[in-house]
Amino acid sequence: MALDAKQTEPPARYSQGKLIQEMEKRGLGTKSTRASIIQRLYDVKYLKNDPAEPSKLGMAIIDALTSYAPRVTTPEMTAELEGDMTKVAEGADTQTQVVDHSRALLAGMMDGLIDHKDDLSEAIADAVTADAKIGVCPKCGRDLVVKTSAKTRGSFAGCMGWPDCDVTYPLPKGRIEPIDGEAGVCPECGAPRVKVHPFRNRPYETCINPACPTNREPDIVVGECAACKAAGRHGDLVAHKSEKSGKRFIRCTNYDECGTSYPLPQRGELHATGETCPECGAPIVEVVTQRGPWRICVNMDCPSREKKALSGAQLVSTQEGVAERRVANGPRLVGAAAKVLYALAAKMRSPAPDGCPSRRAL
Ligand SMILES: [Zn+2]
Ligand SMILES: [Zn+2]
Ligand SMILES: [Zn+2]
Ligand SMILES: [Zn+2]
Repeated sequence: MALDAKQTEPPARYSQGKLIQEMEKRGLGTKSTRASIIQRLYDVKYLKNDPAEPSKLGMAIIDALTSYAPRVTTPEMTAELEGDMTKVAEGADTQTQVVDHSRALLAGMMDGLIDHKDDLSEAIADAVTADAKIGVCPKCGRDLVVKTSAKTRGSFAGCMGWPDCDVTYPLPKGRIEPIDGEAGVCPECGAPRVKVHPFRNRPYETCINPACPTNREPDIVVGECAACKAAGRHGDLVAHKSEKSGKRFIRCTNYDECGTSYPLPQRGELHATGETCPECGAPIVEVVTQRGPWRICVNMDCPSREKKALSGAQLVSTQEGVAERRVANGPRLVGAAAKVLYALAAKMRSPAPDGCPSRRAL
């Protein structure tokens, strides 16, 4: 898989099916391993989207290997190693011979890589930053990138000019795709507009600034607080979208006294129904999504929820949880890429393992 970073016109992209055919043609992988090799490239973020596209990180790895260990990038070498493996399986060659051969091949490459360790780390770090870029800071004009909070492990958009510039935004749940050019700048507030791909939901475009007029939602009274009523006072349950976090939730106007709040699905138009849940007394709201309207009891602990297994807001929040964990993994990539390279090195020094070192390294 030669990836040419210097081309100005994007080359024709392979669908995953076509990619598998191409690997077959070049003798890469076997029938049972090709799909998982491609999946692995997605997992370590060398590939993105479908049809497959190399990420900046993928390009940097290929550039680095082409410069410092050119042989490893040739399909011939991979095919050669695969061929060796087949010979062992067929009994034509011993495992020791093949391991020695692979080890010699990889040792030569590792010397080249280790000599340029610093250049490599820098190139990989730059590429990871470029992959993390989601737009331009409206305050200082530097790049806004996806960062991970050391405290919460959560992701947010932050300015590369930090600490001189303190612009940050919370990130919508899902994979964030930057939008190029003018369409990527919000005409209302100047913050980046991005395309969000929520887990298992249709993508949508949004300004990432939760305080932007395009993201504001009016407060809606969705019902009366049952806890307050029982205590002999009146409290309104209000659906509110935070200008700081962009999160939507319901809270009682007497929250300090009763502590009543409910989470809400973050997407979809919200309507009050004036109805309360027959099981628990919490308000029923209507949420209109691209798939149509649905009505939910806002109480996550409502007994009616257990009957329907995963439904409504709970399903949404579970999906968001998964997507959030995926996003949070992004910045660990420098580590992941370095690990692949150093795993190669480690295998060279360790005593003969019970298989070919190239098998795990590649
Ligand atoms: Zn800035
Ligand atoms: Zn805006
Ligand atoms: Zn209350
Ligand atoms: Zn209920």
